[in-house]
Amino acid sequence: MKTTQEWVAEDLAHIWHPCSQMKDYESLPPIVIDHGKGSYLYDIDGKEYIDIVSSWWANLLGHCNPVISKAIEKQLEVLEHVIFANLSHKPAIRLCDELIKILPKGLTKFHFNDNGSGAVEAGLKMAFQYQHQIGQAQRTKFMCLTGSYHGETIGALSVGSLDLFAEMYQPMLMKSTIHIEAPDCYRCPYGLTRESCQCQCFEQAEKAFERDGHDTVAIIVEPLLQGSAGMRIYPALYLEKLRHLCDAYGVLLIADEIATGFGRTGKMFAFNHTQVSPDIMTVSKGLTGGYLPMSITITTQQIYDAFYADYLEHKAFVHSHTYAGNPLGCVAALAVQKIMREDKMLEKANKRALWLHETLEEAVGGHKHVGEIRHIGLINAIELVANRETKQPFDPSKRTGYAIYKRALDYGLLLRPLGDVLYFNAPLTTTKDTYRQAIERMQKAMKDVLG
Ligand SMILES: *Cc1c(COP(=O)(O)O)cnc(C)c1O
Repeated sequence: MKTTQEWVAEDLAHIWHPCSQMKDYESLPPIVIDHGKGSYLYDIDGKEYIDIVSSWWANLLGHCNPVISKAIEKQLEVLEHVIFANLSHKPAIRLCDELIKILPKGLTKFHFNDNGSGAVEAGLKMAFQYQHQIGQAQRTKFMCLTGSYHGETIGALSVGSLDLFAEMYQPMLMKSTIHIEAPDCYRCPYGLTRESCQCQCFEQAEKAFERDGHDTVAIIVEPLLQGSAGMRIYPALYLEKLRHLCDAYGVLLIADEIATGFGRTGKMFAFNHTQVSPDIMTVSKGLTGGYLPMSITITTQQIYDAFYADYLEHKAFVHSHTYAGNPLGCVAALAVQKIMREDKMLEKANKRALWLHETLEEAVGGHKHVGEIRHIGLINAIELVANRETKQPFDPSKRTGYAIYKRALDYGLLLRPLGDVLYFNAPLTTTKDTYRQAIERMQKAMKDVLG
């Protein structure tokens, strides 16, 4: 039998881990996970970790959820995969039926894909081709918000705004993307607050549209919550204003709900906090409960119709991926919807959300290095700062968040922060007891690092 050291050595000999400086693994070797149950993971030595980040925000209803696992097992006996051009299958058809019931109004056409970045790529291409085919070929630019993250393929990076991911590749990216100053409610340059402002910062978008609105294809946003930027939360009013601005200029609105979809913000989708709908929406992550790689680019009848023509007119959307519409992913997604509905997941999650935020405020809200604890749905983000009064951040070279992450692992908590922003974004099924344990473990780690 191999020892843990041997497994780790073999891992390091061959595996190039995502989003990692591999040299860091010298002091923090990979944790080899054996199994998961609910909100917990267990390594090959039996040590327990609370998965408070839902394994990169994907795991929606706990690891090895019996309902989802059963659904996949059943489907495995029938059909594992099939080419999705010309051929179809019941799980995909059923899934569209289910999703139409919960999606913002007007989103009724589904283009399947196998990962989040891919869904964004498809959305950008779809928007571009739509504008071209309705006689708006002069539109070639895209807009996004600063701090945005939409994935890491070349197109997705081109509408992303985080240097960590994009800086190195600038020469490879679309040059024409317009980056609009995003709302920054913690350090609001207007001195206003998230709860009472009228989104004065929206003037940045207005200025950009005045200048470039007529040659812009689409604007893509992470609605309400800029995840990778550090769980930055902004008001729903911003999205409603943006919808009206897009309509005035003929610019399409793409909502990237890959992180916010399926109950993460307290409603099924972030756009459900508004009275309006996007033209294109991308979903992934929670879609299959974090079980299987699947994503969908969802759009309106109007956009779909602009591609509908005789074959020789060359108007089709030929974008395709081999694993599009994978039936195993579809049955997992169907099981997720069944649980959400039958177990009243949203209702329960929202009750727990109030409690969780209060409990976190009580536990660490007064800490001299906690700038704010912002929250939406069950997501809570703790922004660590050097100075609470001035909101001055820690020197990034100190890697404060990373140091707390390492200590938290020792205590059995998988916290993986975004820079110096610690956050909870656990499976919706996570119990109060587990949250209490997680808070305790986080406090110990914070104490070790921050005093
Ligand atoms: C995770 C994420 C993506 C990228 O999805 P992948 O499956 O990792 O390619 C895109 N947009 C948002 C908002 C995300 O959170």
